[in-house]
Amino acid sequence: MEFADVCIIGGGASGTFASIVSAERKKKVFLFEKNKTICKKLLLTGNRRCNLTNMADIEEFIEKYRNGNFLRNVFYQFFNTDLIDFFEKHGLKLKVERGKRVYPESDNAEDVVNLLKKLLIENKVYLFLKTSVKDIEKRKGYFEIITEKRKFISEKVIIATGGKSFPETGSQGDGYKWAEKFGHKIIPPVPALCGIEIKEKFIRKWQGITLKNVRVSAFLERKKIGEEFGEVLFTHYGVSGPAILNLSGDISENTGKGEIKIVINFKPALDEKKVENRLIREFEENPNRKIKNVFRNLLPSGVIIEFLKYASVDPEKVANQITKEERKKLVKSLREFTITVKNTRPFYDSMVTRGGVDVKEINPKTMESRKVKGLFFAGEIIDVDGKTGGFNLQAAFSTGYVAGISV
Ligand SMILES: Cc1cc2nc3c(=O)[nH]c(=O)nc-3n(C[C@H](O)[C@H](O)[C@H](O)COP(=O)(O)OP(=O)(O)OC[C@H]3O[C@@H](n4cnc5c(N)ncnc54)[C@H](O)[C@@H]3O)c2cc1C
Repeated sequence: MEFADVCIIGGGASGTFASIVSAERKKKVFLFEKNKTICKKLLLTGNRRCNLTNMADIEEFIEKYRNGNFLRNVFYQFFNTDLIDFFEKHGLKLKVERGKRVYPESDNAEDVVNLLKKLLIENKVYLFLKTSVKDIEKRKGYFEIITEKRKFISEKVIIATGGKSFPETGSQGDGYKWAEKFGHKIIPPVPALCGIEIKEKFIRKWQGITLKNVRVSAFLERKKIGEEFGEVLFTHYGVSGPAILNLSGDISENTGKGEIKIVINFKPALDEKKVENRLIREFEENPNRKIKNVFRNLLPSGVIIEFLKYASVDPEKVANQITKEERKKLVKSLREFTITVKNTRPFYDSMVTRGGVDVKEINPKTMESRKVKGLFFAGEIIDVDGKTGGFNLQAAFSTGYVAGISV
């Protein structure tokens, strides 16, 4: 039996950071990671470039998450500038890109992971690799951490096992069952930051096409459940791209509750009248051109035929033959192009997990469980998930930091 001040389960972004922070404060830390190396998921982030955080201010940050308010206190203690200072202080140069996204200057996630590995060693964290924690038992005044071969004892425990997304990286939802055992409510985990499978088959023909600056809204029956602005990418199963990824958590959460539709507004900067005037102008300027050719000024060429079919307008018709009724249909289709959700992509194809340990039962000042003294949570296991742009890693590092200094 070996003893530590704190046992940390999960060597992802949050658990590794918590370990470093806690060991810097002279705690004896055991870190358990089931893989043969730490931070397997971190290596994949930002297309292997690692979008570490974002330069947005705290209020913008809070709006990027489900349960963002839970993070307010966490961010007061450790925010983006603290994270940047931390990495730069240890020699990792960073840069800011479009959308205020922060990356290593080297564009290499491996540099982030190598630095974290070095800091684990320097701070004398006891790292147990290829060690899957099987159970945690609470005894009087201490915890027992049970792995396949051995048992470990500590006064405090941080569960940082992540969510269920990209399970091949080791995040397979192991922590939920322990949290539940300790009396925590688990908000059902669902995939987020993922593509959406679409029922309409004609969408497959748009595979590879990107729509820029569109608005996408999701409706459960008549109720709007989410809205995003930006890029939509068509894929072999349906839709993806930043706007859809950011909408996907809201769709996942409502899957199974009724029919969900996605409404695309191709021209969100124009109101209905302006869209109609634009069409009138195009038709007047090109009276003898086929409508399928006129629409090249309005939509990417690859979507035009199916779009016109959707609007029930013959693509071969010339512009001056378009009736007022057809024009109205075209306006409506440009503003309310509606497709039906079949499903969200599965966990293996989703970047984060929505759901997890209910935030109401965690003290946001310390990350300690409100149910069990000495038990802490950090990272994606908590029911907080953010949009794309570096928000999920910042949440993992910040909650890791707060748990690390509080144990
Ligand atoms: C492809 C991809 C790209 C992404 N890109 C970005 C990005 O650019 N920016 C951003 O902010 N976010 C990004 N994310 C999200 C971000 O990576 C996660 O939110 C973050 O890594 C969560 O950190 P975590 O420490 O909570 O969990 P994880 O990183 O999932 O770590 C959990 C660790 O716990 C270990 N573990 C689990 N159970 C056990 C057990 N029983 N015993 C021992 N160890 C265990 C796992 O092996 C794993 O290493 C991306 C995610 C993916 C999948």
